[in-house]
Amino acid sequence: MTIKSKGAVLFNMESKRPYFDSMPLKISNLIIDPPGENEVLIKIRAAGLCHSDLSVIDGNRPRPLPMLLGHEASGEIIQLGKGVKRFEVGDHVVFAFLPSCGDCQFCKSGRAALCEPGAKANNEGTLIGGYRRIKLNSEYINHHLGVSGFSEYAVGSVDSIVKIDKDVPFEIAALFGCAVLTGVGSIVNSAKLKFGQTILVIGLGGVGLAAILGAKAAGASKIIAADINPKKREIAKSFGANYVIDSSDKNSLNYLKDITGGGVDISVEFAGAISALEFAFKATKRGGTTVTAALPNPKARLKLSPVTLVGQEKTIKGSYLGGCIPSIDIPAYIELYKSGRLQVEKLISHRIKLSEVNQAFDRLASGEGIRQIIIFD
Ligand SMILES: [Zn+2]
Ligand SMILES: [Zn+2]
Repeated sequence: MTIKSKGAVLFNMESKRPYFDSMPLKISNLIIDPPGENEVLIKIRAAGLCHSDLSVIDGNRPRPLPMLLGHEASGEIIQLGKGVKRFEVGDHVVFAFLPSCGDCQFCKSGRAALCEPGAKANNEGTLIGGYRRIKLNSEYINHHLGVSGFSEYAVGSVDSIVKIDKDVPFEIAALFGCAVLTGVGSIVNSAKLKFGQTILVIGLGGVGLAAILGAKAAGASKIIAADINPKKREIAKSFGANYVIDSSDKNSLNYLKDITGGGVDISVEFAGAISALEFAFKATKRGGTTVTAALPNPKARLKLSPVTLVGQEKTIKGSYLGGCIPSIDIPAYIELYKSGRLQVEKLISHRIKLSEVNQAFDRLASGEGIRQIIIFD
């Protein structure tokens, strides 16, 4: 049986701000197909707004349209498709924004962030089985990263969801699907921060602030947080940053080198601006590692002198999905949250209704707030 659902659909990537006026996301009446093999139907309870949703809306991260947006969500399973073994009706789950098939060469070698069938499905706007389950005016529309969480209901693959304990509030659980997974994972999996190391986190949106929480939990000795927005630098202090800097200020690099004895061991960049990545690389000391987890426009290019990589033994690397295995890392990070060592609740700045999603993206685009969460009844 199909089910009716209201959801926020993106039809074009040309809308001008303010989005409150141009309304790039149209709240649409959708029909959701029943779950197929190895899929489940989920009643969405909470969904977070992430900067990479904004990158789809403004065309920096082109995706097939029309698309039911949203890639950070939690909810409750209300129906099982054929062959589903590990989940039951009533289970609470969080989506990961990249499905992991468990069977490709990358999944088998523990690198779920590189899952090939997962990436193919995400690029094509389907679930990992290749199907679309969302209809608008009797035409199928695209899924967003296997999630499409800005909707009352969603069909998801079992490869896209992780079961969570029922005592974790849905609005908290949603954060683990993107902000926390990407932010904390980039620190512990990609940068492999060691106890006592110094770190620079540049770009202080939800993911960057989650990375600060991760760096603190992992035992960084000095956490330096950088952003061009003074409000975000203030917020970073309350997340555990020991120093904050404005990376657009020409004195900042020297100041950073002074307080760290020549540069940080690890720098992690989430800003999506080439100038920020260049700053992160320069701030990294000899032998150190620069990680980028941002998604700049595909046409952007980085200028870099390769001899510094050699002569100073520096590493520069990318991080997707925080280098995580969602089914292992999400439950682990939730345990850290429960024990008070990962205070992810601080990330929530606004709770909104689905109908307020366009103005919420105006706030995100102007750098206000941290994580805004759509709460569904
Ligand atoms: Zn995201
Ligand atoms: Zn795979």
